[in-house]
Amino acid sequence: MIKEKLAKIKSGKLSAKENIENFLKLIKEKNNEINAFIYVNKDAVKQAEIIDKKIKQGKAGKLAGLAIAVKSNINVIDMPITCASKTLENYYGVFDSDVIKRIKQEDGIIIGMTNMDEFAAGITGESSYFGPTINPSCPERVPGGSSSGSAAAVAAGMCDIALGSDTGGSIRNPASNCGIVGIKPSYGRVSRYGLIDLSMSFDQIGPLCKDVFGCALMLEIIAGKSDYDSISYDRPVEKYADFKKINKIKIGLSPDFEKLCKDKRIYNLIKSCAEKLAKKTNSEIKNINLKYVDLAVQTYYPIVYVEFFSGTRKLDGRKYGSKIEDNCGEEVLRRIIGGKEISKAEYHGTYYRKALSVKDLIKKDFDNAFKDVDIIISPVTPSLPPKLGDKINPEKAYAFDAFTIPANLAGICSGVVKAGEVDNVPIGLQIFAPAFREKLLFDVMKECEDLNI
Ligand code: GLN
Repeated sequence: MIKEKLAKIKSGKLSAKENIENFLKLIKEKNNEINAFIYVNKDAVKQAEIIDKKIKQGKAGKLAGLAIAVKSNINVIDMPITCASKTLENYYGVFDSDVIKRIKQEDGIIIGMTNMDEFAAGITGESSYFGPTINPSCPERVPGGSSSGSAAAVAAGMCDIALGSDTGGSIRNPASNCGIVGIKPSYGRVSRYGLIDLSMSFDQIGPLCKDVFGCALMLEIIAGKSDYDSISYDRPVEKYADFKKINKIKIGLSPDFEKLCKDKRIYNLIKSCAEKLAKKTNSEIKNINLKYVDLAVQTYYPIVYVEFFSGTRKLDGRKYGSKIEDNCGEEVLRRIIGGKEISKAEYHGTYYRKALSVKDLIKKDFDNAFKDVDIIISPVTPSLPPKLGDKINPEKAYAFDAFTIPANLAGICSGVVKAGEVDNVPIGLQIFAPAFREKLLFDVMKECEDLNI
């Protein structure tokens, strides 16, 4: 666990170099099979040696010696930033994203770049140009996407903490399928500078880890205003990793989520977790109304298609990599063509504008709900993850995000911890908190983790 590991490193019982070497050995043994990493940092051991010196001098940062895996759509200088696409196969980062600068300042070591769905557009982790990622916790099912490699690297013990990005569920979905912890911060909590866009009005970078402490510590470091990202908000970043006990809160459950949950075993598990949490924290469970939440998927995709189309116009083969339309996979092409179509003048207002107004309705739904409750609990997915290699049509694939997309539409924060298993498949518990209430979110996630539910 991260807290204990940091104490060991600080006291000299484990050196940064040993920590990195242990991971590199495991990556060598397991990565061929799991395919979590696209690239491993050749200088990691050398960098660890430098950090060991700093530790001895008592000058090391908060992440000193930890191995951090990074999704391949987050720029890191001199590492391949491929977005798991042939389009950017040979593209290397020429600068560090804001989040990477902050991690390096705190002496975290970037151990490698992880596999993902191409351009973060996916739900299964299978659409990478570099081949599918395997779910270490349940190899016959998909690991989830799009941050498949980041979740798999954590679940397989190949790094301490990983970074993913979440536009409609890409951190929470694989966290759930792999049985680990992940959080999507509130929109604007973390700088997007250096993140390659899927959809700029939803994308957020966030951490994945085996424990809540690791995610909380990482968010503390990467959160905050940046001059390079005008939508990053200037809100104080609290000490997320100093957990406070939860007492007497109001926990919301929504019959609207229950109705949408196709596998009742999943909903029952989530409900019983909510009841255990309420009992432990002397809290009350209230039913809340989220009447527009069933429109989330239909609202999200037109916006993503249009923004993705716009964001990929720079990938015309002149400055970055090769021309995207000539080199991308089916799902990426579908979004480019779809986004181009929706943006046409004759459709002005028909799809995109309408989607934006429904987005507001969903946001209002949550604003109202949070007048009655402090947090809301839901499943992460409406059914078990697909079997690896199963062919599913786009409509079915998109439906897997029905419970995660609402947080992106509303701009609020949302985290996942393991709830249990159904048919030996890990199932995550999703907790929503109001925008910029990450401290409350982490405190609740920690209670859930301690409950061992
Ligand atoms: N699965 C969703 C999509 O394909 C979400 C992706 C993400 O969060 N990056 O758009």
